[in-house]
Amino acid sequence: MAKKKDITRTKLFKMVQSFDEHDAKFRPSISDCREIWRNINRNVFNNELKMPSFRLVYTKAFWGECQGVLEDQTQVKMKINKSFLSKRLFINTMAHEMVHQWEWLTNENMTHGPQFFLWRDQLANYNITLSRCYRMKHYRLD
Ligand SMILES: [Zn+2]
Repeated sequence: MAKKKDITRTKLFKMVQSFDEHDAKFRPSISDCREIWRNINRNVFNNELKMPSFRLVYTKAFWGECQGVLEDQTQVKMKINKSFLSKRLFINTMAHEMVHQWEWLTNENMTHGPQFFLWRDQLANYNITLSRCYRMKHYRLD
């Protein structure tokens, strides 16, 4: 019988817990993006995803955006907002974009449908919230 992994001892779980929902603003660096991406990939996606290229952008249109590379189903480009309301929101956004990355790898179809929400429970184990969109004043993330 496989030994059940104690999620609360993973680095990902500890990282998520250490940031309060209503923390101060958070401005991620590229290495913050890579670090949280790596931990989510390891714990939730079984290391099946390939490190994307990240770009930090200033925009009021979205928190994160995932774009598949047409010539290569294993590759995506992610744009991440330069400024988040909290670190939790940054982590939730990264998880959301990573589900899109998984969708791209699996069937090149990015949705917010049942296939997208297959990951909700696994992410919830780490207190990461997967939603269709996260409020952005009058804007919404997609
Ligand atoms: Zn989305």
